[in-house]
Amino acid sequence: MRIHALTTGTVRVKQSFLFAAAGPTRQLRLFVPGDFSDRLPIHAWVVEHDGRRLLVDTGETAAARDIPFARFDVKPSDELPAALAAAGMTVDDIDEVVLTHMHGDHMDGAVHLRLPVRVHDAELAYSRSAASRFFQRVLRQPIPAGVEFEPLALDGGPFGAFEASRPLSDDGRIVAVATPGHTPGHISIICIDDEGRHMLLAGDATDTLEQLLARRHDAVGPKPAVHVATLERILAHARENPTVYLPSHDVDSAARLRDGTTLSA
Ligand SMILES: [Zn+2]
Repeated sequence: MRIHALTTGTVRVKQSFLFAAAGPTRQLRLFVPGDFSDRLPIHAWVVEHDGRRLLVDTGETAAARDIPFARFDVKPSDELPAALAAAGMTVDDIDEVVLTHMHGDHMDGAVHLRLPVRVHDAELAYSRSAASRFFQRVLRQPIPAGVEFEPLALDGGPFGAFEASRPLSDDGRIVAVATPGHTPGHISIICIDDEGRHMLLAGDATDTLEQLLARRHDAVGPKPAVHVATLERILAHARENPTVYLPSHDVDSAARLRDGTTLSA
């Protein structure tokens, strides 16, 4: 097995996004003026295993519009085809695609693919809800046109500390697990590497390792308690299995992947 970290540009986010407040001002603070972070990567991942290549998330495109709490820096030369080329691949080398969740910086790059894009069925349903459609319009983050989304049911029972899962490879070494919180249907992908480490492609389960260790919910998820319960599960999983934690926007994720640095929770 080999995992490649792709980078499709960068994003700067408001500090009130990275360090969410507890209580009723949690979401409100995203919309008032405030300082922004340094540039954070927008990662996607390719998992090469058993002669197949699975793309996990598709990255952002240059069409992304800034929103009150995120400023994107994505050039056409940062988009998925170029990010794949930097890893020695083309879009035609990809066999399968799965998304951690349906936010623009994870799904917009799907416009470059001619493959069905698998999404947790609960996430797909949420994206079509009235609340979600409202934010897509207000934040001017539409679902990309012309992409064929295919619902993925997490019907494989528990996996490790996670309540619901679905194997994505015949040998069970690539597994989608439920990590709700950031969005209701958010999933993470666990890849058991040749050394037996659980490489946890965490999407936006948190933005950083620091947020995970602090057990801090984020500023956008609809139910903070659900989010915190997921963070506890990830930490519980890491106590039972050597786990390398790889969120999409952590400046240290690429180095942790390269070095195989496990969580000691
Ligand atoms: Zn997100």
